[in-house]
Amino acid sequence: MADLLTELRERLPEARIKTDPDVVLAYSHDRAHFERHGTAAVLVSPQSTDEVVAAMKAAEAANAIVVPRGAGTGLTGAANAIDGCMILSVHNMAEVLEIDRTNRMARVQPGVINSELKKAVASVGLYYPPDPASYEMSSIGGNVATNAGGLCCVKYGVTRDYVIGLEVVLVNGDVIRTGRKTLKSTTGLDLTGLFVGSEGLLGIITEITVKLEPAPSPPETAVAYFAELPQCGQAITAIFDRGLQPTVMEIIDRASLEIVERHYPMDLDTDAACLILMQATAEDQPISELVEICEEFGATGVFHTTDPDEGEQLLEVRRRIGNALEKVSKHYLPEDVAVTRERLPELLSGITEIAERNEVLIPVFGHAGDGNMHPSLVFDIDDEDEVRRVRKAFTEIVQLALDLGGTLAAEHGVGTLKREFIEDEIDPIHLALQRELKATFDPDNRLNPGKGL
Ligand SMILES: Cc1cc2nc3c(=O)[nH]c(=O)nc-3n(C[C@H](O)[C@H](O)[C@H](O)COP(=O)(O)OP(=O)(O)OC[C@H]3O[C@@H](n4cnc5c(N)ncnc54)[C@H](O)[C@@H]3O)c2cc1C
Repeated sequence: MADLLTELRERLPEARIKTDPDVVLAYSHDRAHFERHGTAAVLVSPQSTDEVVAAMKAAEAANAIVVPRGAGTGLTGAANAIDGCMILSVHNMAEVLEIDRTNRMARVQPGVINSELKKAVASVGLYYPPDPASYEMSSIGGNVATNAGGLCCVKYGVTRDYVIGLEVVLVNGDVIRTGRKTLKSTTGLDLTGLFVGSEGLLGIITEITVKLEPAPSPPETAVAYFAELPQCGQAITAIFDRGLQPTVMEIIDRASLEIVERHYPMDLDTDAACLILMQATAEDQPISELVEICEEFGATGVFHTTDPDEGEQLLEVRRRIGNALEKVSKHYLPEDVAVTRERLPELLSGITEIAERNEVLIPVFGHAGDGNMHPSLVFDIDDEDEVRRVRKAFTEIVQLALDLGGTLAAEHGVGTLKREFIEDEIDPIHLALQRELKATFDPDNRLNPGKGL
């Protein structure tokens, strides 16, 4: 079998190939604290599709495993190195190639950071909605490969709803283009959709065409505290039952409020059971209509503003939770389950019960408008008993979400973190079909094996 480094050096400039163990290590894991990563043989950072093709042909000649990587902000171990693999990082492919105002679309390389795309399209009056809380550090390629969600999904949907075309380098180095430039097309099967959320299992995404929206009017923002979680759940369902359309609807429970307040003092009410954070635009309805419903269901403290800058500051409460959690403990395990909106109170009370019974600190926050919660299990990795209790509580939360008719992986993907549970959600015939699809694209199982499916 050919040697991977020799094959790479024959095809790529030396500057794209890194073997320094410290450099390779820095690219060998994502942000999933529990998931182990292997030792990669090499890090390759191509600057063009042709260079990705060259790297894939080298890996094929050496029969090497390939782990695609964006910005490494994933939370499931999906970008973690596998022993002896080639990590293929697209961070050097980070150009916005085209913004088409007439057809409201943009063509980008996969390494473009989400916030950079947002800024680029905003400069011509357009809007790219998907906004994971990691939008200032995650890549569009990674967002596509995980079908990332975010705060504004409640109105605008997830990454899948904006991807209309892809360029993909297959495992043997062949290049395909999926999708179209026209807004409509019924030609052939939808392979674009298949690649969205495919977690690096089917090919390397080297170019992405996304649909854009006209820039919305500046949002109005409100926060409402509740003394009881069930009241908050009732307010959320009433907002949708009555036909209102928030653009953001986030929930932050008491434990999360306490952690944020401890590390980023903002005068939060840490006696409340939870806070909901809402935004709406004048195109839909004034924020006051959402606030009135919260008051009707017993909100204890309510504040709203039409000032977009003040609104952004309020959103910081939500965006800082991840960083605040990292200050509380070097290790936390972020869950990512979702249920339909009306089952949210059951999910929340079930998580509280699981936390108490297993004696684990589980701050809960998430996208209340989508029923997508991120209970985050805090632990000390050196405390064996606590690690055992955390694993048990984590499994129980997955099962709770499934028992409530929900999903075990709403927006972060499966990676290695949740692979053991996948058969609990997808029935055997369906799962076998998915695995056959993977084998069609990757017959030798060299693309990110052991992840996802
Ligand atoms: C603080 C914080 C907040 C977060 N908030 C959210 C949130 O609100 N919503 C949300 O959905 N996620 C969130 N995440 C998770 C993470 O940011 C997303 O999963 C993101 O989409 C990953 O992008 P990335 O560029 O970092 O990809 P990586 O972590 O590098 O990779 C993720 C997966 O995509 C594959 N991949 C990456 N690039 C390519 C490519 N070009 N071709 C093929 N496969 C590729 C990798 O193999 C891997 O399977 C958060 C993470 C953090 C740390």
